[in-house]
Amino acid sequence: MARVVVVGAGVGGLAAAARLAVAGHEVTVFERAETVGGKLGRYVHDTPAGPFHFDTGPSLLTLPEVFTELFEATGAKLDEYLDLVPLDPIVRHVFPDGVAGGTGGAAALDSCADPVVFTERIGAAFGERAAADWRGLWRRAGRVWDASWRDILRRPIDSPRDLASLAWRLGDLAAIAPGRTLRGLGRRHLGDPRMRMLLDRYATYTGADPRRAPAALVAVPYAELAFGGWYLRGGLGTLADALLSRCLDLGVVVQTGTTVTRIDATGGRVHGVRLHGAGAPVPADVVVANVDALTVYRELLPSPARLAGLADRSLAGFVLLLGVRGPTGLAHHNVFFPRDYDAEFDAVFGDPGRGVRARPATDPTVFVTVADDPRVRPADHEAWFVLVNAARHGTATTAVDWRRPGLAEAYADRILDVLAERGVDVRDRLLFREIRTPADLDAATGAPGGAIYGTAGGLLRPANRAPAHGVHLVGGSTHPGGGLPMVTLSARIVADRIGPA
Ligand SMILES: Cc1cc2nc3c(=O)[nH]c(=O)nc-3n(C[C@H](O)[C@H](O)[C@H](O)COP(=O)(O)OP(=O)(O)OC[C@H]3O[C@@H](n4cnc5c(N)ncnc54)[C@H](O)[C@@H]3O)c2cc1C
Repeated sequence: MARVVVVGAGVGGLAAAARLAVAGHEVTVFERAETVGGKLGRYVHDTPAGPFHFDTGPSLLTLPEVFTELFEATGAKLDEYLDLVPLDPIVRHVFPDGVAGGTGGAAALDSCADPVVFTERIGAAFGERAAADWRGLWRRAGRVWDASWRDILRRPIDSPRDLASLAWRLGDLAAIAPGRTLRGLGRRHLGDPRMRMLLDRYATYTGADPRRAPAALVAVPYAELAFGGWYLRGGLGTLADALLSRCLDLGVVVQTGTTVTRIDATGGRVHGVRLHGAGAPVPADVVVANVDALTVYRELLPSPARLAGLADRSLAGFVLLLGVRGPTGLAHHNVFFPRDYDAEFDAVFGDPGRGVRARPATDPTVFVTVADDPRVRPADHEAWFVLVNAARHGTATTAVDWRRPGLAEAYADRILDVLAERGVDVRDRLLFREIRTPADLDAATGAPGGAIYGTAGGLLRPANRAPAHGVHLVGGSTHPGGGLPMVTLSARIVADRIGPA
């Protein structure tokens, strides 16, 4: 039996802790916040009408079989803990009038988990040519997904050599198209500019710019649209409760309000961790860090060599939590696209090469989630989660100082105006509005600058194995990537590598 310390109680940390406890190890989780879940955050706003419950992070669960496997591996059944609600539409995409090259007025397209039905919907909205284009892309996306699932997502990839040594079939390699971008793939397969926008948006699921993100990210829409998108009744945050409960039942010690300041690893192997405000180090044979790789290699286990590979940071998000007098008739997930998507990417990424600073996009894509769930809002009201892509917080050219006085309030006003311009005016229906900037996400979860996905895009992410023996990295900033299912897969990779007691 090894003494395992897990640093951070995000989804990756809790999933790893549960697996390692089942494997017979003595596991302690240290979490700096007072609650568990990390980016899978929650917030309750009380009003005279009743409480509004918000998820402040994820709103969409994909690949539920990953979670089913996790619960089974830890001796439980997923549906005893969580109430999964399949979504149709998964997302309502609303395109504005006058998208360059489009075929006319404003249009909406509802995605769903049935590829035949979705393709029919594309045909009805944008014509048969667009539907045929999507069929072609879909076949290719399926090949990329199969190869990724088989060779990348469930196994450790520690170096470019590991990637290169994968025995990919030639057809898979052609589909993955290592040198091509997601934007390039859209240009090649999709004639309708609105379908290209839809595809581009999936780059932002990894916090990346579609003009630079690899074409292999076409596996992301495939996973969502082939296996479905789900809501958890009571909110996505119920997943954090479920994972905590599994951990506690398995004997894991979870200590919140406890910050790890250092991983001790002299002589190339781990000895333990140091806690803020505590004298003696906590001994450990294995440390699993569920902290952003940047923080690990800058502060907890300094490694200039590993830090060098972490420069390309992912996007952050600007969030509004709105109490709205309803009903408004919106779908569960709604994306309101702008006319000029590239103007948004130019703004939020900046162009450091030409000295152009990142800035809030003036006409951004707006993502609105409205759960039709009486458990999360008072009767006749709606709890809106509004998310806009944003540069991370900081002073670099590629960041925005979200603490600048007045900026957050002015940008919140702007987003409500943008929604009104796109036909959804709730400005006089608001009971309250709360703002969460990238700086707030950084403060709440320790994500540097509020970057949601660590480093941006790419097949090769920071390795799960750290340079010191006995130290492992789990979570969205490491292999195989961000998002709830990927983070959960990273926990499996790490627990398998550590092995049984
Ligand atoms: C706005 C938003 C929307 C999103 N939407 C979706 C979505 O719809 N679907 C989806 O699948 N994913 C979504 N994601 C991504 C998803 O939330 C993350 O990928 C996932 O939750 C990250 O989990 P993690 O294991 O990396 O841990 P994190 O959530 O990053 O947690 C890390 C934990 O470590 C703790 N910690 C940090 N430093 C220390 C320290 N020194 N000592 C002790 N503890 C420490 C932190 O407090 C935190 O609790 C979204 C994220 C955000 C922010």
